[in-house]
Amino acid sequence: MSYLDIVNELQQAFPKPVSDRMHDSYFVFSFMRALDQLDDMKSIKPLLDKPVELDYEQARRRRIDEQPATVEEVSQELVGYLSGMFIWGHPRSQINVVPSPTIPSVIGGLLPSIYNPNLCSDESSRGVAVAEVEAVAMTADLLGYDAEQAGGVFTFGGTGTALYGVKIGLEKAYPGTMAAGIRGPAALICSTAAHYACQTVAGWLGLGHDHVIHVPTDEENAIRTCLLETHCRDVLKEGGKIAAIIATMGTTDAFGVDDLQAVYDIREQLVEEFDLDYRPHIHADAVIGWAWSVFNDYDFESNPLEFRPRTVRSLAGTKRRISKLHLADSIGIDFHKTGFAPYVSSLFLCKDAADLQLITRDEKTTPYLFQSGHYHPGRYTLETTRGGGGPMSALANLRLFGKQGMRALLGHLVTMAEELRARLESHAAIHVLNDENYGPVTLFRVYPDEVDTFTLPRREQTDPRCREELLKYNDYNRRIFDLIQDEALQGRGVVLSLTDCYRETDYGEPIVALKSYIMSPFATEWYAGVVLESLQRARAIVDGNGSPPGADAP
Ligand SMILES: *Cc1c(COP(=O)(O)O)cnc(C)c1O
Repeated sequence: MSYLDIVNELQQAFPKPVSDRMHDSYFVFSFMRALDQLDDMKSIKPLLDKPVELDYEQARRRRIDEQPATVEEVSQELVGYLSGMFIWGHPRSQINVVPSPTIPSVIGGLLPSIYNPNLCSDESSRGVAVAEVEAVAMTADLLGYDAEQAGGVFTFGGTGTALYGVKIGLEKAYPGTMAAGIRGPAALICSTAAHYACQTVAGWLGLGHDHVIHVPTDEENAIRTCLLETHCRDVLKEGGKIAAIIATMGTTDAFGVDDLQAVYDIREQLVEEFDLDYRPHIHADAVIGWAWSVFNDYDFESNPLEFRPRTVRSLAGTKRRISKLHLADSIGIDFHKTGFAPYVSSLFLCKDAADLQLITRDEKTTPYLFQSGHYHPGRYTLETTRGGGGPMSALANLRLFGKQGMRALLGHLVTMAEELRARLESHAAIHVLNDENYGPVTLFRVYPDEVDTFTLPRREQTDPRCREELLKYNDYNRRIFDLIQDEALQGRGVVLSLTDCYRETDYGEPIVALKSYIMSPFATEWYAGVVLESLQRARAIVDGNGSPPGADAP
């Protein structure tokens, strides 16, 4: 076979460059076949097909074939890799802050994957560059920034947004670092409940993990602002610099929200008091909390969407702090978390687009780029090639939901979480840990019957003499989790998750907790009952007066 025969054959595997209806239907049909196969993998269980043993040994032995394969062969094989995947949008799935992407956001990701716009510049992305600018403007305005003044880019995840924020902060603390390199230590200050992305960023930017200051949190999992002030003061008194203060606006585990107003006031006061020649940069890690901005102008008094009183209280409680987002110098936003977009769709926003100048490359370094056009984010992005999927799927959902759709959807998730909390709280053997946090996530601990759950959880947190009990019940909760997980994978219960360290006790031990993160638009109250029943069965087994599911009762 000559090479041309092979090329002819392979042409079938590419979309046709000029209109060809027959071949278009082949393309669509190939995709539909894959979707059909996936559909056959659905059941009442919250996962595709069944749990699979992952065989990395065999995977490492895999080699490229000599001969090409067909589109059908390849796509069928690809579908197989999704076997065992959780269906995040299934109401029996309450695992983590992972959304089920909407249909328009999937299309927003698919279209660029066919035509490959490169957001390095508008020469190579055309209208998709406009989509990015629109998504930036809409989000900036939604979060309370002046959209005319703000700027931003989509990047590689929430970690990427923090990287941009701290990099800009570092340039403010030590101007010219981009060119000259780091000339002195600079602190990154965040709370103990902040995401480990803060560590990552400090490591990668050369600040060093040792220069991350983790300020303890209060019972609401928010940074203790008086301690924040003390730490900032200590750094400045010793003549040190602050690269950035990261306020976490929605912590990963408990939905704690920092008091940005207080953080801002502290920064302003210290700039004056120490007569600083720079303003320590405040970056808001709002990758989870940003979406609650839709409630900034919701009338909680008249409550036109008819949320229940408990939901109103919860939403208003979050809004109180989220409405301060505009005080941050930059904000990280994940559409792929609370914006129902596919991975990866993260937006880094700057209050003042001029801040992006601080990280802009010298034009001389990119002679082959930016010869025409008006929009060249590649001059300041860390990435060179940037795909169009992030902004297109974000824009898709902003358009699809509007503010009202987002309010309804988030309100529903919070209502379902409140329902679950109410039921967990009324159970004598269960203690809800984050009852001062008002998001879709609930962390709780389960205890055996004899435990007094009115006093023990508090003592576990504070009293070192409780260490042994704490560890014993950590273990207890792990066992409960395993049983619930087994049941859920059979399609009987609800898949929850387990966090190894919801937070540390005052004496430095990790508190293990069960976690329910409700993200499914299909969630109903009924599933709260399912969680409770499943917990009951698991407790009965661990306490030794029940039998495992499926086993014969004595
Ligand atoms: C998830 C998360 C991150 C990291 O974001 P990715 O998009 O997963 O990279 C950072 N901060 C917080 C608070 C998070 O929850």
